[in-house]
Amino acid sequence: MNDKQLTKLLHAMKEKGLKFTPAREIMLKIFLQADDKLLSAADTFDLVRKENAKINFSTVYRNLDTLVTNQLIEKITCHDGIRYKLISQKQHHHLMICTHCHKTEPLPFCPYGELEAFIKNGTDFLPTNHHVEIYGYCKNCRQELK
Ligand SMILES: [Zn+2]
Ligand SMILES: [Zn+2]
Repeated sequence: MNDKQLTKLLHAMKEKGLKFTPAREIMLKIFLQADDKLLSAADTFDLVRKENAKINFSTVYRNLDTLVTNQLIEKITCHDGIRYKLISQKQHHHLMICTHCHKTEPLPFCPYGELEAFIKNGTDFLPTNHHVEIYGYCKNCRQELK
């Protein structure tokens, strides 16, 4: 992480009309540091507490919600609960998620094209959006789990 990225995020927060609070600043920093790794609310809270022990869980939880609503972070439902990560600057993408270490990687392309044509031609449904996540094991975890 670098300060430039944090400044950019804090600026985005301000543009969305969100108040600048210590909890929000710490949380954005934590998500920057986590990079592509998904964090649960409990993970986030543990990391926040290391920076500022006065911030309680409900504050963290409320701010996770606010940051999701304002599209600064995204919420992903994994097999073991809800997790969060910073929203990627790249536009349309799908995540490959390691169910062991919760690292994510974007798929290099959207696999939806043919499926969309099929839905449009073969059904009465008009698709407007889609959401695809791919679960599995990353290279490191595969080696570790062998
Ligand atoms: Zn992994
Ligand atoms: Zn897609």
